[in-house]
Amino acid sequence: MNYKPFNIIVILLFLIGVLLVFFNFISFWILLVSVIVYLIFLLVISTNVQWNFFVKAYNTNPSITRKEIALTFDDGPVASTLEILDLLKKFDMKASFFCIGKNIQENPEIFQKIIEDGHMVGNHTFSHTRKMGFLSTHKIIEEINTCNKTAFEIGGVVLKTYRPPFGIINPKVKRALENTGHQVIGWNVRSYDAVLNSKRFILKRIIKNIKPGDIVLLHDNNYQTIEILEQLLLFLQTNNYVSVRVDNLFQIDAYS
Ligand SMILES: [Zn+2]
Repeated sequence: MNYKPFNIIVILLFLIGVLLVFFNFISFWILLVSVIVYLIFLLVISTNVQWNFFVKAYNTNPSITRKEIALTFDDGPVASTLEILDLLKKFDMKASFFCIGKNIQENPEIFQKIIEDGHMVGNHTFSHTRKMGFLSTHKIIEEINTCNKTAFEIGGVVLKTYRPPFGIINPKVKRALENTGHQVIGWNVRSYDAVLNSKRFILKRIIKNIKPGDIVLLHDNNYQTIEILEQLLLFLQTNNYVSVRVDNLFQIDAYS
């Protein structure tokens, strides 16, 4: 999709609105409410990667018939990642870790252990800045490339998959990804483990509608996640489900 004509239309509509207000054809409030609704629309479409509005992401694989899902962990590697690795080993399940470059630098051995244990690693930017939605295309490319460079120096892998921090995909992120060539990995099961405060509720959210091909979003820097993970893995095992790496779920390349 080319956004330039879209932007021109939006600006033209806004100017027409200003003129209509100026000549008293419509009230100022109608224009204000329209602008607010438009801004909310922009916010919603750019923070919901699973809607594929700007970029086609891998969010779920409905063609999977085997009882396979992909557990994914964002924001590591950190000390608590080791507990997650132990649990995954205990249940013989594989997962995908979308790592922050800065954390890879701080915890190189943990990053290497994730790879040694046979899990997939992916790019989650270098700094995971809260300003992600406001960065220039150039700055986003730098964030992605610096994370890749760190992962290569420490783990010897060239990451090809990207998980957007805060799920943010906008036209600038889209242009950055066209430059770096990463494939976007989204999710279709959001656990809200980093937001909610009830372990029971988080677990229920995940297992309620679990089906083959699902991608579950979790965070390895969250203590609640570690506490529910054993029960989640037990649930999967009891129900003959297995967690596989995202690249295996879609038959895509994790590294180049
Ligand atoms: Zn994140």
